[in-house]
Amino acid sequence: MLEENTKVWLDGKLVDFKDANVSILTHSLHYGSSVFEGIRAYETHNKQASIFRLQEHIDRLFYSANVLSQNIDFSKEEIMQACHDVLKENNLTSAYIRPLVFYDHSSMGLDYTNNKTRVAIIAWNWGKYLKEVVRARIVSIRRISEKSLIPDAKVGGHYINSTLATLEAKQFGFDEAILLDHDGFIAEGPGENLFFVNTHTKTLYTPKLGKILAGITRASIIEIAKNLEYKVVERNIDVNELTTFQGVFMCGTAAEFTPLSCIGDIDYDENICLDIKDTFNRVLRAELEEYKNWNSIRE
Ligand code: PMP
Repeated sequence: MLEENTKVWLDGKLVDFKDANVSILTHSLHYGSSVFEGIRAYETHNKQASIFRLQEHIDRLFYSANVLSQNIDFSKEEIMQACHDVLKENNLTSAYIRPLVFYDHSSMGLDYTNNKTRVAIIAWNWGKYLKEVVRARIVSIRRISEKSLIPDAKVGGHYINSTLATLEAKQFGFDEAILLDHDGFIAEGPGENLFFVNTHTKTLYTPKLGKILAGITRASIIEIAKNLEYKVVERNIDVNELTTFQGVFMCGTAAEFTPLSCIGDIDYDENICLDIKDTFNRVLRAELEEYKNWNSIRE
């Protein structure tokens, strides 16, 4: 996927991808004890890289690390600069950036307090993650519960829940999964938050925080929608309500703004909230002055 001489940031140094290797006994490989972020950079009109909401992503990375009691040996500012450095070193202006914090190989027991944490930042060109319009299915596997895990932390091990959900949706011929929470309410996609649209009342409904990942795109969409005079309601959404909405879209760093054409056998209008989509796409490319504090651009 990456060229051998692509530069990867590993524990404070830029090294060639071919040399950025770890031990087969890496704790996080065995037990999922890693945390990570998914961040995107977009090329601006004058060919600079603008990283979208970098501060918020790095804040969440440190939050997730804290949840696992991981100690990151670098400051937030150092990690943010490193994200820019990886782009610059690889001549990337539009890219997906993956910071990863993981426990090393010094011990194989479940108690990782004596393992060292390591930090990697990898960037690559990643086009659209989902199709332009997606067919989704509610899968049988439920979103991880807040009673057992910490759904608002981006922990490596949590993602087997997302992978199993994705495989199930695909097995049934759909593009993407929708997971319910343990109470049976709509939670989210495997890597996306969800918005349901009532076009008559110009209202967006989205599952409230607590059992889902607090998506940075979700928060951005809420702000953009309110500025465009939509009403936004964060609450539990019941499966029986799905026929009352005219449109649905998914959003996330990888998925960006993606409308759904159906959930199972319920069809939706895919041309909804075009004003939100358009504003969001312009904000990503640092075209709108009023949102410019969401764009991280460095020389
Ligand atoms: N939910 C899950 C489970 C995710 O993995 C992601 C991707 N990080 C999202 C929602 C969307 O979050 P964000 O907008 O911060 O990328």
